[in-house]
Amino acid sequence: MMNIEHIKRVDPEVAEQIEAEFKRQSETIELIASENITSMAVMEANGSVLTNKYAEGKPHKRFYNGCSHVDVIEELCQKRACELFGMDHANVQPHSGAQANMAVFMYALNPGDNVLGMDLSNGGHLSHGSPVNFSGLYFNVKSYGINDEGEIDYENVRQMALEHKPKLIICGASNYARIIDFKKFREIADEVGALLLADIAHIAGLVAAGLHPSPAPYADFVTTTTHKSLRGPRGGIIMCKQEHALGIDKAVFPGMQGGPLEHVIAAKAVALLEASKPEFKEYAKQIIKNAQTLADELVANGLDIVGGKTENHLMTLDLRKTGKTGKDMANVLEEVGITANKNTVPNDPQSPFVTSGIRLGTPAVTTRGFKEEDIREVARIIAEAIKNSDDAEKLKELRERSLALCKKHPIYISD
Ligand SMILES: *Cc1c(COP(=O)(O)O)cnc(C)c1O
Repeated sequence: MMNIEHIKRVDPEVAEQIEAEFKRQSETIELIASENITSMAVMEANGSVLTNKYAEGKPHKRFYNGCSHVDVIEELCQKRACELFGMDHANVQPHSGAQANMAVFMYALNPGDNVLGMDLSNGGHLSHGSPVNFSGLYFNVKSYGINDEGEIDYENVRQMALEHKPKLIICGASNYARIIDFKKFREIADEVGALLLADIAHIAGLVAAGLHPSPAPYADFVTTTTHKSLRGPRGGIIMCKQEHALGIDKAVFPGMQGGPLEHVIAAKAVALLEASKPEFKEYAKQIIKNAQTLADELVANGLDIVGGKTENHLMTLDLRKTGKTGKDMANVLEEVGITANKNTVPNDPQSPFVTSGIRLGTPAVTTRGFKEEDIREVARIIAEAIKNSDDAEKLKELRERSLALCKKHPIYISD
């Protein structure tokens, strides 16, 4: 792990927790679909002296002096984002994915305007119009869902668009196991005269590797996080067509944010470079292979997956026929050393705080080197843990098995 000698001297309490967190990450199997394990290079950039710098504004148009180096870094980051995703313009300053979306809303809409997005409990994101989020509070949002097969019903989206007349349509999800048809969304947007936002926060790594169709030919705006399958630092990026570039930049700053986090932008640049390499393509291929192996093996062990399969990096375990809940089983999995989050399934009889599902994703375990045989063992551990959730002895034995997998594939040793 990175040296934290100074923190240990200055602040032993925080140092202790960082070390404990490193141990936790080392010794548990991370199946939270939105998490990953960055490279040491990304980590170093993120922890660099760039955190000392104020750089409000854009490269070469800053409100502060002394920006010559951060200008180069930010421009590199923008250029790499545009090249990797095939878009005209990139703003790499959003502090997070939600803020990237917020900036698009601010640029493209006025409060009260109509928006069509994917429903949160069907796999959409909070920032796509949930009533408790700014997007749902200040805009008039209608939401589409998925059918019993776990798929978006594009004809239904079209009907909703015709009825609701949105100014902005949002596609992209936090929990959707199928390929997204960006072309169909474009056709629907064109039919009703809407702008199209593709939020690829989850699948950015797969898109970068060419393993998921790119929204670039179709979307007016593409937003992403950089810390999920893209394997960079925690942050966001907005990409857009040239005609929207100035407006998007203004919405980010001074519209929504103050100073950009140049240390994070440097780490984003490093991650984008890494994601452009052939090794990353191999990595992304393995993410999908591992996800499909996990889905198949869970089904072979008697469990259900929403829609029965996955086409990307994640899936939702449907626990309804086991009579157990997502909340309880996610806690049982934590006991056996597997981290995942409870999640609703379509038409979930349980509340969002209890749920009947668990979302599982493979980006993080793939980073640490898990291959199909390891994943099959993970699936068996999950199935046995759920079946024997009241048997403390059995859970202890499963914990040993998950620890053995972690020891076989340590984190932060090779680089
Ligand atoms: C994770 C996610 C976001 C938000 O990212 P944060 O960095 O947590 O704000 C936005 N959209 C989608 C689809 C996501 O999955």
